[in-house]
Amino acid sequence: MNSSLKDLYQLQQIDSRIAYLNKRYHELDNGSALKALYDETLKQNETFQASFKNLQRDIKDAELELANIETKEKECHKSLYGGRVSNPKELAALEKEIESLKKQRSRLDEKILLMMDEVETNKNKEKELTAHLMESEQNYKKKESEYKKEVSVLAIEARNLKSEREKLASTINPAMLKKYESLRSGKAGIGIGKIETESCSACHTTLRNSVIRHIKESDEIVFCDNCGRMLYIPE
Ligand SMILES: [Zn+2]
Repeated sequence: MNSSLKDLYQLQQIDSRIAYLNKRYHELDNGSALKALYDETLKQNETFQASFKNLQRDIKDAELELANIETKEKECHKSLYGGRVSNPKELAALEKEIESLKKQRSRLDEKILLMMDEVETNKNKEKELTAHLMESEQNYKKKESEYKKEVSVLAIEARNLKSEREKLASTINPAMLKKYESLRSGKAGIGIGKIETESCSACHTTLRNSVIRHIKESDEIVFCDNCGRMLYIPE
């Protein structure tokens, strides 16, 4: 058997492992879906915070308005019972004004109460959103760090394999190496198959005994009848 075949087959194993690592690398989850989920939650939270702020501002406005009404009411009472106004028309107008202010106050009281209820609901929602935000941040950061770790493990192995490959390739007959490379590029990354239980390991076709004998006995490179790859027999 041609002595380069063993080295070529070893090279094939390195190349297959490098291809596998490359495939694994492309299949890794880099956490981008979880990051998008986190960004979405962050946006939701911002929208919520803005509307909560508006609600709190509305309450302050309503409270100020309420204080104004109360002041006006007090002034009207003072005028009504202070004895300075005696004209019946003016007195009637004051009573009417007081009545109207009372109605406004009661409407505002109700409005403020409703808004206070809303504040309670919002506080609960704020807690939920904050917890959700923290959770989704942890999820994506965890995935991101797992990804970085996995990438670095793959990169270290790939680097070692590449240097191993370089050393091995430099010892192989250049013409055979070239043939192997050209086969590999056209045949799904596999340029050489080994013979296992009389068949080609790359395409699983059973090989004729004469072919096997020929590989063993001569120095020639023999190709699989079916897939056209080089054949190697492990010792
Ligand atoms: Zn084959």
